[in-house]
Amino acid sequence: MTVGRFRFMDEQRVNLDGFAVEDATLGLLAFNSPADPEPELVVVDGRVTRMDGRDESAFDSIDTFIASHGLDLGVADEAMALDDTTLARMIVDPGVPRSELVRLVAGMTPAKLARVLAVLRPAELVIAMTKARARRTPSNQAHVTNRSDDPLLLAADAATAVAFGFREVETTVPVLGDAPSNAVAVSIGVAVGSPGVLVQCSVEEALELEMGMRGLVSYAETVSLYGTEQIFTDGDDTPWSKAFLTSAYASRGIKMRVTSGGGAEALMGGAEGCSMFYLEARCVSLARAIGAQGVQNGGIDSASVAGSVPGGVRSLMAENLMVMLRNLEACTGNDALMSESDVRRTSRTHPIFIAGTDFICSGFGSIQRYDNMFGPSQWNAEDIDDYLVMQRDWGVDGGLRTADADEVERLRRRAAEAVRDVYRHLGLAEFSDEWVEQAIDAAGSKDVPAADLMVPLTAARLIRDTGITMLDVARALDECGYEREAERVLAMLRARVDGDYLQTAAIFTEEMQVLSLITDANDYAGPGTGYQPTPVRQHEIDTVRQQRSVEDLRAEQAQSRNNRLRVVGPAAQGHDPRDVVIGVSAATGRELWVTLSGLPVNDVIEELVAGLEEEGCAGRIVRINDTIDLGRIGLEAARLAGSGIAIGLQAKGTALIHRRDLTPLANLELYSVAPTVTRGLYRQLGINAGRHAKGSTPEPARNPYSDEAIEARYHTKVISLVAIERACAQVDGAPETLELAARESDS
Ligand code: CA
Repeated sequence: MTVGRFRFMDEQRVNLDGFAVEDATLGLLAFNSPADPEPELVVVDGRVTRMDGRDESAFDSIDTFIASHGLDLGVADEAMALDDTTLARMIVDPGVPRSELVRLVAGMTPAKLARVLAVLRPAELVIAMTKARARRTPSNQAHVTNRSDDPLLLAADAATAVAFGFREVETTVPVLGDAPSNAVAVSIGVAVGSPGVLVQCSVEEALELEMGMRGLVSYAETVSLYGTEQIFTDGDDTPWSKAFLTSAYASRGIKMRVTSGGGAEALMGGAEGCSMFYLEARCVSLARAIGAQGVQNGGIDSASVAGSVPGGVRSLMAENLMVMLRNLEACTGNDALMSESDVRRTSRTHPIFIAGTDFICSGFGSIQRYDNMFGPSQWNAEDIDDYLVMQRDWGVDGGLRTADADEVERLRRRAAEAVRDVYRHLGLAEFSDEWVEQAIDAAGSKDVPAADLMVPLTAARLIRDTGITMLDVARALDECGYEREAERVLAMLRARVDGDYLQTAAIFTEEMQVLSLITDANDYAGPGTGYQPTPVRQHEIDTVRQQRSVEDLRAEQAQSRNNRLRVVGPAAQGHDPRDVVIGVSAATGRELWVTLSGLPVNDVIEELVAGLEEEGCAGRIVRINDTIDLGRIGLEAARLAGSGIAIGLQAKGTALIHRRDLTPLANLELYSVAPTVTRGLYRQLGINAGRHAKGSTPEPARNPYSDEAIEARYHTKVISLVAIERACAQVDGAPETLELAARESDS
């Protein structure tokens, strides 16, 4: 058996993850496989005759497509001639504008771009990404799904996602037949939340395209690209079929990005010995060549494959940068959960989060992990507060904002009721009041036992059979009294005709303004330039619901106000050898009544007195009014005590035993971790003080075991409590004797 240290380490979450030995033959290699070709481009009479180690005659379909549609031959000679390090430095250098990089990269083959980006260190990737993303304003995309395909819950959760700031909402189904109902429910939900939120329902292509043509969804990102021909043909596809599908979406005014990501080819056994990063470079070149406006990559389904090899997480980020440099919208992964470890998944997302991208997550699970029908995301409802606090910590815009609980309740009610009314109006379904109420309150589908799983299936079938379009939904909303939502749904349909949001990296503001590469181009050029949140947006980022002021704390303490501690007069010098003074701090019983562990201060004093009495001593309560320092409180109290022994107690619960002949900091016992001190421990402190008074040496009490971040949890409270103590203490404040009145009745 291994030693305890390793048995203990084996139990940690990170060891649920899989880690692979690097193996180029299987494609389990992040960068620079021996099988990756040397960058190469030969152009004869405007025609590519050799590219990345292959003659035109040996091109596979991916090579052919890239060679014919994916390269700017006007700049190719210049770009391919620059050495890797020079190019890498230009990518990082704030003095080289984004437009210049885009111009040069357009002439680079996949192997060239892969090799250049492999040079960049993590911190350089952050700077490069800050400069290279297309849109100035970062945003974020949510998954809204649930295990039941419950339309009421989908609508309520979609409205909730919008309240938290998501500008694209993606849904999918556990049961394919439910898809049209999900698309309608989510579209109604987002319309309750805000104008201009894009909606996707990720399903099999024919159905997804059909829903798009009926206006039931407004963007698509399911068209997957792969870096080897074999994987394409295994999936019954070619670059041409993907290009056709991409055009089909865009031609109907549906915003369109493709999906790829390192590790997919290795996962499907078709990497041909190449590195993940090189194969992804081919995918991204292809995305450019087929005319998609953007790519969702870097941590989609195969993120954990990339994450299992050395440098894999860095390659995921470099993939995203590759998309930006090809002048495409970057929906930067952070989608599928790549690790069970909170540390690892945070580490994986963090550099991208601080750099800012078009969509930080290509699928933040705005619902709980168990309801995420894509599988758990890298970030889920469990993590929204963490994410909001991370934004606040770094002062960066990660696309989200704190939502007010009352407002979320109002939105959820309106969304659930709108779906109920529209489904009834269109003859799709009837929902019980119980179901509606459960969906409004639910934190997840487990909280909606009233849901009938046949309802979405029937509703979806009726939507398809009767040919319901988004226009019908808008009309139903209007006729059911949801004029504002009807107008928002119509506005999205109008926007599809305008087509402005088909521009690269487009999102809508809440005022239906398009932010894109054209209207909101990233202009980062070093410190002091580029995106800065507006003061209003910065306030949103900085304000989290958990923040507390001194006044909040004062009010909280005041709720426990009572007058059991009464002043009986000035404190006198004691002479009885059994006299032990309990010196309490200046705010005790004046402004503060509850310790950090939640115990009433009066109860703490009662335990101390009882402990002293067990040892035959008498506890005398004296409030020390001229200091807030616990050592001095204890020492002053000890000097007043007949026994020369005292207990010092701050209202927040920190306590010690002191003796009159010691220096202020040299006490006998200290209970420093106030939040963990229990009633029983205070009793023990009283007993020990009594034993000291009798001249014996008791075994010191120990702080209880704890692995909580005591300081993180309580320090801000402590600052407020100390401020209140300081306001109560006076330099010339004389000690006063207090009396603790008996409890009034019950106990
Ligand atoms: Ca997505």
